[in-house]
Amino acid sequence: MQVKRNVLLNPGPSTTTDTVKMAQIVPDICPREEEFQAIMAPMREDLVKIVHGKNEDYTAVLFCGSGTICIDVVLNSLLDEGKKALVINNGAYSARATEVLEYYGLPFINLEQPWNTTPDLGIIEETLKNNDDIGYVYMTHHETGSGLLNPIREVGALAHKYGAFFLTDTTSSYAMIPINVYEDNVDFCMASAQKGIMGMTGLSYVIGRRDIIEASKNYPKRSYYCNLFMQYDFFERTGQMHFTPPVQTIYAAKQALIEYFEEGEQNKWERHQRIMAAIHKGEEKLGLKEMLSRDVQSGLVSCVKYPDDPNWDFEKVHDYCYERGYTIYPGKLANQGSFRLCALGAIDEQDIVGFWEVFEAALHEYEIKIPIEYKEA
Ligand SMILES: *Cc1c(COP(=O)(O)O)cnc(C)c1O
Repeated sequence: MQVKRNVLLNPGPSTTTDTVKMAQIVPDICPREEEFQAIMAPMREDLVKIVHGKNEDYTAVLFCGSGTICIDVVLNSLLDEGKKALVINNGAYSARATEVLEYYGLPFINLEQPWNTTPDLGIIEETLKNNDDIGYVYMTHHETGSGLLNPIREVGALAHKYGAFFLTDTTSSYAMIPINVYEDNVDFCMASAQKGIMGMTGLSYVIGRRDIIEASKNYPKRSYYCNLFMQYDFFERTGQMHFTPPVQTIYAAKQALIEYFEEGEQNKWERHQRIMAAIHKGEEKLGLKEMLSRDVQSGLVSCVKYPDDPNWDFEKVHDYCYERGYTIYPGKLANQGSFRLCALGAIDEQDIVGFWEVFEAALHEYEIKIPIEYKEA
């Protein structure tokens, strides 16, 4: 069976290999069978291994849902009575975390920081010093909307210095940028199968410290479907997800993990960097400008300013590229029009070379001037 290959430059789901796609085609199976359960235990261990956790210290808890389910789970499950959360808010995904906390009616400090530069560690420390009731500090590792990389190691260290847990949303960095939960001071991180491991949508996981999950047994229960201890406990006792798992997605994830370890952490990160270098090269050739300076970028997302050319129309350029197998994605920034080019997925630099040819042809087609015009220097 031939499946058309699309190059996805959107921030997930990402382009997958045919072997991962095909891994979903399996005989129908009831997920309560031992044969299916036998997949889950090694999968949980592999997910911990990706961030270099030891299985006795860390565990992976799987959920059926998109990545946001993990944000919901950790925020609502890991705050003890009498404690409040501290959210470092410098992008669309940390803003989402503040909304989750609002929906649960939980107390939190919304520490807003500029969206385009590294947050101020002094202010974070000051906030921790002045509030001795902070249960956890929450920060997005890679703000996918802008491409900003946040300093988890430093902020994790500050959280621990003041006796708080450190929770980080690594959905768009896990299995791409090397992470070591011990060195990076991470108590909880999370991801989703359609991003770093290059699997399918519908499976997400929280990876975190067993001792804290065990302790959270006695924390207030605020959600039924999204309680971390409940799901963990069910896994530990039965080896299964509490409720129906995304069966085919789990088969795909199993294959994706095999391919992840075959490629290797360092090779994979080098490939992502190679893709981003090709993205940057094409931008420079056409005169496209980015929203963030290079030194604060993750290396996985390039956020490009919309040209000021009167003929620029994102939708038209998008459609032109899409029809030719390349998907680009609008930005998530309120202040200025932007689109994103992402280095996720089973692609390599020659795909980016192919993309720029098509993009340049789109500029010609719609009579958008090259080099690209911007009003401000
Ligand atoms: C993709 C992503 C998520 C999850 O988004 P969903 O739409 O729920 O899959 C969460 N956090 C970050 C940083 C992401 O990039």
